[in-house]
Amino acid sequence: MSQGVEQSKSWFSRATAATPGGVNSPVRAFNSVGGTPRFMVRGEGPHLWDADGNRYVDLVSSWGPMILGHAHPAVVSAAREAASSGLSFGTPTTGEVELAEEIIARVEPVERVRLVNSGTEATMSAIRLARGFTERSKIVKFAGCYHGHVDALLAQAGSGVATLGLPTSPGVTGAQAADTIVLPYNDIDAVRQSFVDNPGEIAAIITEAAAGNMGAVAPDEGFNQALLDLAHEHGALLIMDEVMTGFRVSRAGWFGLERVRGDLYTFGKVMSGGLPAAAFGGRADVMARLAPGGPVYQAGTLSGNPVAVASGLATLRAADEDVYRALDANSQRLGALFADALTEAGVAHTVAFAGNLVSVFFREEPVRNYHDAANAETWRFPAFFHALLDRGVYPPPSAFEAWFVNAAMDDAAFEVIESALPHAARAAAEAVAS
Ligand SMILES: *Cc1c(COP(=O)(O)O)cnc(C)c1O
Repeated sequence: MSQGVEQSKSWFSRATAATPGGVNSPVRAFNSVGGTPRFMVRGEGPHLWDADGNRYVDLVSSWGPMILGHAHPAVVSAAREAASSGLSFGTPTTGEVELAEEIIARVEPVERVRLVNSGTEATMSAIRLARGFTERSKIVKFAGCYHGHVDALLAQAGSGVATLGLPTSPGVTGAQAADTIVLPYNDIDAVRQSFVDNPGEIAAIITEAAAGNMGAVAPDEGFNQALLDLAHEHGALLIMDEVMTGFRVSRAGWFGLERVRGDLYTFGKVMSGGLPAAAFGGRADVMARLAPGGPVYQAGTLSGNPVAVASGLATLRAADEDVYRALDANSQRLGALFADALTEAGVAHTVAFAGNLVSVFFREEPVRNYHDAANAETWRFPAFFHALLDRGVYPPPSAFEAWFVNAAMDDAAFEVIESALPHAARAAAEAVAS
């Protein structure tokens, strides 16, 4: 049951002539699964439509932001109303205050917030601030965790780079990489040793509050608390990257599930409602070091853009307990369908959860870090992916990604997934190692 893809093919050939690889973010490419990327023209509720008129149940949700589903009426009307009042002023605006207050009200350790335009900017700025605050240079990060395409943080950075098989990126200088210490995720002894080996030099540990960029890999019980304790024992800060988990896995993000109080937080994705907006924030004494009150410089012409802020605020205001219950239920339901179909087809697998992030790993043993994720039978993924895509399900086009449900998914959407999955599981079973 192959769909027409003529329009997508033709757009892709124009795209590759105009843009490197034909995409504006590598995770959208089909390099690791083969075939033609679908050019989407419309989204509504749980569905996307491509340029050929094919409909998909969307399990990417714009890589996280669309927790309410596509074109949610309250979000669209808030953005439309803001746009009709002017697109950008380059002055403070009232909406920015309300969005900052909403974030502070939801995530207790966040006392002050600065708005930026992307998650990358948020982590880049948080790292600069941590270095400025501690007057130290080195940063600890974990293999398989992605914190945006910040030079110093691109080492062993999970999904996007892993999918393309890049160890790290050319263009990152030796000096930038030298200040980054990359350790295995969920290995607290390695973190302890890094503080011994680099006395007085580590400014911060940055970690995904729960890893979602090597597939969903939850922190071991006590891991985040141990990171916080070690950081503080050695005069360093803990930066909790909640760009993916923030306002998705609970109303207070991963903090709401675990309550480990990071010093700094980074947010993006959900808080933008689908327009470019992100934030970093945290302890008032640390944030006070930022310009204009403090010496650590950070700025942005379009930061706190009124339309993006309106869309983010409308999304957070609509994201009540019912929405979080639906996200949790939908991810459990999806995970159970994965497990049933793959068990039935005899494919070795683990369905992993980190809150309501869910992933399929083609291996029996649990996945605790990037090494484990990379040692799954990822060669089964392209067949699994295409069997779903052909049957109207849009999965993330990489074996190293979390799958993102939204609250608009209904029984009809699940029926599409449920009827596609046995075919996908059989395709995965029949795949041959390349
Ligand atoms: C997506 C993501 C980022 C980067 O955000 P962009 O808006 O794509 O720059 C940073 N950290 C994490 C954990 C992410 O998932």
